[in-house]
Formats: sequence, structure tokens, C-alpha cells
Amino acid sequence: MGRVGVFQAAACLALALVSAGCGSKQTPPKGVLLLVVDTLRQDSLSVYGYERETSPRIDRFARERGVIFDGARSAAPWTKPSMASMLTGLEPRQHGVTLHHHRLHSALETLPEVFGAAGWDTAAVQSNMLLSSVFGYDQGFGVYQEDHLATHRTSTGEGINQAALAWLDGRADTTRPWFLWVHHYEPHFDYLHWPGLTYDTGYDGPLTGEETMETLVAYTSHLGPKEIAFLRGRYDGEIRRQDQLVGDLLDGLQARGQLDDTLVVFTSDHGEEFLEHGELSHRHKLFDVLVHVPLVIARPREKQPGRRVATPVGLLDLGRTVLDLAGLGTSTFPGHSFAPVLGSKRAKDLPPVVAHTSTIEGNPEGAPRQMDMLLDGHFKLVRDLDQGTRSLFDLSQDPGEKADLAARDPKRVLEMERELVRYLDLSRRRGGALEPEAVQLSQEQIQRMRELGYF
Ligand SMILES: [Zn+2]
Repeated sequence: MGRVGVFQAAACLALALVSAGCGSKQTPPKGVLLLVVDTLRQDSLSVYGYERETSPRIDRFARERGVIFDGARSAAPWTKPSMASMLTGLEPRQHGVTLHHHRLHSALETLPEVFGAAGWDTAAVQSNMLLSSVFGYDQGFGVYQEDHLATHRTSTGEGINQAALAWLDGRADTTRPWFLWVHHYEPHFDYLHWPGLTYDTGYDGPLTGEETMETLVAYTSHLGPKEIAFLRGRYDGEIRRQDQLVGDLLDGLQARGQLDDTLVVFTSDHGEEFLEHGELSHRHKLFDVLVHVPLVIARPREKQPGRRVATPVGLLDLGRTVLDLAGLGTSTFPGHSFAPVLGSKRAKDLPPVVAHTSTIEGNPEGAPRQMDMLLDGHFKLVRDLDQGTRSLFDLSQDPGEKADLAARDPKRVLEMERELVRYLDLSRRRGGALEPEAVQLSQEQIQRMRELGYF
């Protein structure tokens, strides 16, 4: 049976239930904190079973206050399309932000616009140049604070926390509800050294840890298991530092008496690869090391803290879900709320989880190379439109996605691709698809991006 019809019906039912007040048993939030940590792969956190205790404060918060999603996937393997999907509820080709020079189309409705129209104060405090207001990500925010843009060589986490809390403290009318997006950057390369936090692997090879990602990528073929362990020790150390920063921000909310009344959504825009599929960093692929992300949703006075949800969910449905949980479920914002999954023991039918990536790498003058992913239960289909290839993985048997089953199971490939096409067609009919807008950067902006390590 096709799942499209099922998820349509389920979404309507979910909407009807929320509108009818079935979600009202849980205390509605007075504030919403969307806390995104850049480049944080799911399996690198101890709350997800990682062998190193990288995230004690996040773990405690998740277990004591949150619902932990084990199967969340970002809509893309890199920042711009992934965050655009979170902020618009649209699949990457619908919002159109698929390449570096694209900007968020002003015709789109953004999550902060919905909150703002409902009388909420809105702000973002963000650290990533790719999410700069130059690229339209400020659309709808009352305050868009980007005084603490990180470079690949510096940390701005403390400044981000201070700015976020300063915004909360400075609001003119504290009786108004608020929506705040905080975007941290620590785990993103380069992997900085943090004394006492970086994991010492006893490495005595040629790497110093000061190499840029460009250099590491250039020498990929020379990197052996010891080098990868060394780099992973640095990355994991950055996560420990990030964990402290997340803890500090939550403590800041607690100290202001706000944490108990706030809906906290903790997640990441994408993961990171350490040669599992032949490359470093986050390139244009849709393997789980790049799209499987942490997701913890902590409602005010959560009734089942620490509960785990195995059902896969897509972050492009996160905005719709957050609105439902904030009591704005009747808005017309796109996506399918997975809010009902938070409160019930059994998962309801949800749409398939999709992701997309486009790149003009190696083909700067030509059409972008495009790949799509569809996750249905534990089967994952990836199609490469440029190469004309299809890959199929059974994540229950092969979580590392090493055994491509496409040739062995062509029937499933066909069915899943039909499902993917149906989903994309339906989304397009419902939300339209925009031609991407390109940004002409000024010389100053180009220079700034160079300084930050882009280009
Ligand atoms: Zn990112």
C-alpha cells in the first residue's frame, strides 16, 4: 500500500487532534529555543551510545527533560539547504537553496514569520557565515544577531551564549512568548584543540592537528587508521566543549527561571564523515554519517522524560512540529507534524523521510549533480540522478551502509523510487517549487568569506 495516502490521512488526523485540544495535556511553552549545533553526527554523542562520554550535560538534559529521537535525518548533508528546510518546512528543491551562492527566496514563509504574526518575540543568534543575512536567513526574525560568526580556526560559542541570554534579558515585554534560534559551530572543522577535552590517542605521526580541512582533503589517500583516530579525537573533543556550552546556555535559562516553561529543541544541521565512505568532512553524499542527526525535544514539564522514539523523522517536518507544540498548530506552514509521536507509545504513520543534495563540484559550468534519499522503515534508497545509479541499504542489518542491495532487490528499489517521486510530486503540488535566487556578493563579503575559510 502506498504510504503517501496514509501519511496524508495521518497528518490531517494529527492536525485535527491538536486543533481539538488533544495535545493540551502537556503544558504549553512560554518560549521556544531551537538549539542547533553545526556538524554534529548522531553517533558521536554518548546519549546515542557512543563509547566516549562526549556529552554528559546533553545526555542528562535529554534523560531528565526530553524525548530522544533515535531516527532523525536532516534534509541535506550541509548547512544551507538543511537549515532552509528547517526554517521553511520545504524539501530542498522546493525552497531552492541548494548551492553555495543561493539565498532564501523572499516569497517563502519562514518559521519566525509564523511566530511573529502570532505575537511572539523572535530572534536568532547564529555563528555560520553560510547562514548570514546576506543569504536571506534573517527573514522574519525580529533580531538577527550575527556578531559572533565563527571561522574554521576560532570558537565563538561563549559569545553566542552571551548574546542569546542578553536578548532574553533585554526584551521589552517579558509577558510575550518568544522564539529563539541559537546556532553553535564548535564541532565544525577545523577541529580545534581543547586542553583537557581533546582525546589523546597517543598519535605520533605527521599530523599536528593544525592542518586545514583543505590540506587534509588533499592528503586523503595518505591518511591511515591512526590519523583518522587522531582526527576523531579532536572532533570528539570539540563535542565535549560544545556539550559544556549547551549546558551553560541551559543553565542560563534555568537561572532566569525560564527553563521549565521553555520548549527546547536540540538538533544538528548535518553530520561529518571520517573516511567511512572514502572522504572527510561533509561532502555531497547522503550516507547516515552525514544526515543522521541527534534530536531531543524537551517540552515544559515533560511527562515521559527520557522516552526514546525509534520512528524515523525528517527535520524538514521539524518546523511544523514545533508550531504544533507551541500551540500554533492551525497555521498553514508546510510539513507534517510528528508531535503526536511525542505523546503516544506507538508511532503514528508519518511521511517517508527524504533528503537531497546538489553540487556543481567538478562541473561548475554545467547542471548540478543531484541526489535524493528516501528512508522508509529501515530501508534506505539513494538515487543519483546524474550518474543514473540507485543504492539500497538495509540499515537494520547494515547501519554502516557498506552493502548495496540494489542489484539484488530491484523490486524494492522500484517501489521506493515510486514512493519518492510521489512524495516529491505531492510536495511540489502543495508548496510549489521556486527558482533559486543567486546572490551577487560584494568584494567585501567575498573577502569576509575568504577570511572565514570559504572559497
Ligand atoms: Zn553545517
